[in-house]
Amino acid sequence: MLRFKVVDEAFNRKAIPVEIPSERPQAYYGMYVFNRQKMFEYLPRATYEALVNAIDNKEPLPLEVADSVAEGMKRWAIDNGARHYTHWFHPLTDGTAEKHDAFIQHDGKGGVVEEFNGKLLVQQEPDASSFPNGGIRNTFEARGYSAWDISSPAFIMDQTLCIPTIFISYTGESLDYKTPLLRALNAVDKAATRVARFFDPTVNHVQSFLGWEQEYFLVDEALYSARPDLMLTGRTLMGHESAKNQQLEDHYFGAIPSRVEAFMLDLEIESHKLGIPAKTRHNEVAPNQFELAPIFEETNLANDHNLLLMSLMAEVARRHNFRVLLHEKPFSGINGSGKHNNWSLGTDKGKLLFAPGKTVEDNLQFLAFIANVMAAVHDHNALLKASIMSATNAHRLGANEAPPAIISIFMGSHISGILDKIESLTASDLEDLASKEGVNVGLNQIPDIMLDNTDRNRTSPFAFTGNRFEFRAVGSSANCASAMIALNAAAADRLNKFADAVENRVSKGETLKQALLAEIKQLISTHKSIIFNGNGYSDEWKAEAARRGLDCETSAPKIFDAYLRPESVKMFADTGVFNRIELEARNEVKWEMYTKKIQIEARVLGDLAINHIIPVATRYQSVLLDNLYKIKSLFPADKSEKISAQDMAAIERISEHIAIIRAEVAEMVEARKRANRIESEREKALAYHDHVLPRMETIRYNIDKLELDVDDEMWPLPKYRELLFIR
Ligand code: ADP
Ligand code: MG
Repeated sequence: MLRFKVVDEAFNRKAIPVEIPSERPQAYYGMYVFNRQKMFEYLPRATYEALVNAIDNKEPLPLEVADSVAEGMKRWAIDNGARHYTHWFHPLTDGTAEKHDAFIQHDGKGGVVEEFNGKLLVQQEPDASSFPNGGIRNTFEARGYSAWDISSPAFIMDQTLCIPTIFISYTGESLDYKTPLLRALNAVDKAATRVARFFDPTVNHVQSFLGWEQEYFLVDEALYSARPDLMLTGRTLMGHESAKNQQLEDHYFGAIPSRVEAFMLDLEIESHKLGIPAKTRHNEVAPNQFELAPIFEETNLANDHNLLLMSLMAEVARRHNFRVLLHEKPFSGINGSGKHNNWSLGTDKGKLLFAPGKTVEDNLQFLAFIANVMAAVHDHNALLKASIMSATNAHRLGANEAPPAIISIFMGSHISGILDKIESLTASDLEDLASKEGVNVGLNQIPDIMLDNTDRNRTSPFAFTGNRFEFRAVGSSANCASAMIALNAAAADRLNKFADAVENRVSKGETLKQALLAEIKQLISTHKSIIFNGNGYSDEWKAEAARRGLDCETSAPKIFDAYLRPESVKMFADTGVFNRIELEARNEVKWEMYTKKIQIEARVLGDLAINHIIPVATRYQSVLLDNLYKIKSLFPADKSEKISAQDMAAIERISEHIAIIRAEVAEMVEARKRANRIESEREKALAYHDHVLPRMETIRYNIDKLELDVDDEMWPLPKYRELLFIR
């Protein structure tokens, strides 16, 4: 029996010993990163200075400097065992893409030399016609190019020098996640700097910070290989709940199994070598679910590190005979995985702008930023939801375990109280306040009370947590850039409007403080309906959110429409993040990806149902029938009826489930065929959502019922209780 063989193999596995470096982390941290220290070591002084200057001041790199950088980078890479180089970019599919080239060139004497120059470093034309582009780039002119993002350092992975790049079409439209992310970060830098200068005129730049928390599941590789659904779709398409799963709540604080601990240690060491500041690791709520969180970093770098970590996890997991599942909902009935995005803004003077301070001025600045975030999230709540939506994350949202499918902000009672007070101030109060210390609205005492503000509301999709906002609706497999683009762009747009309005008031004779207070008050009263401190899982909230005019759509293909709403198009155009062509093209890709994911799942499910489950159920049914005949032939009628009643009922149940499964699979195939004939990507995705998904659920329900009836020895697939408990 294959199933018992793989279960046995999985259960008897021991922890794989990890090669622990003899030095402390500071000795090997970043050893595979071409960071400033390596630049200094490998580049001529003038090149080093030109490069650092270009990075710090966001200036283009002259080609002769690039040539010199390439030479030094190549020497460093070869010294560290690299044989290939690649432009590493983030296409609109999940994950990252790379095309490796060896350094070698003909030397003209029949041999080779290892070469790399500025042109190869700075720009390339990957033959990328097969990456999704939503129709921007017709395949016959399949030309896009990748260009080095000098703000993110090159690194070596698997003996390959990886150069982080953006990926754009020849007409300048972005074909990736990094390009618009850099544009959004630039926009928020400019806008937030304007506002920060009201408080500190010496501020030159504002950076956006991201601290992600990556959740994931581990499954033993033998069990994984025996589950075609996991292998092909990343989630189990069937499987009855285990008698024990997370109800004892014993996993979160439980000891980490030794096999997993070895994996985590290995992953942490490898992360540190690649300059990923992995810091926290722990069990999560569900069995076999874990989390890794780094120290937060500048958003672009943090996102590169997250993408890199996701590749690294897959690789390290294999060394430990695990497979890592990044899918948002690998198992039904237990918690799914997310990736909280902790987000903040900070000035080049080291001040975090969402952190309250010790003076009235500090707190006025804090409130100005908080109020602008409120406004941005309120104006674009539908867009922010669209930014985290995908076929896979759709399973998780609104499922009473993860953020609801309605975007609101948790502020906590203390901050909410201050906001209420400011909102209720009259014009003369404001005048008073502008000239006094702000004591009566509590502006001078935020820090003390903040310490107690730990009543973290886990049901909120977007929570204020002291000095940052935590966007919790992001999916575990997602590229965080999608959420970070929408959030930073929306914040930038808002902050620009705020700066305009304040400047306008000042030009009309108001003092700066008056102008700021008046605008903050205005923002609070217009946007306070985005704040919700209660239970986000409750039905009352759904009704209340609809009354407040927040977006309550739950169908993923329709949620994507938010990108094309006039206010989104305008906001992205004003901030220079996306033009309309890009938005339209990217939505095409979103709908197409949605369809493809469900199409694949539906095919796998149909195949498993017909070729694995039904034959086994039928075989078990005939065992029961056989038994029935024997009972009938041996016992008198009245007795045999009594003895065989249970078997009879089981036979009937099995027949019913089989009949439903057969019929539903046939219907599902028809629904797919009808959907596939639809031309429009949006309508096709909707057809998959409305007509294919519900059938998959019915099929699954019936298969899971069969699992309860059929002899355990016959069941072909590893069960939840086997998949979910690593020893
Ligand atoms: P929890 O699980 O309680 O939310 P964690 O400690 O697991 O908290 O994760 C917190 C994350 O927030 C870490 O990645 C941390 O680096 C990040 N973080 C902390 N402060 C900031 C900040 N100001 N801006 C962005 N991220 C931050
Ligand atoms: Mg968190």
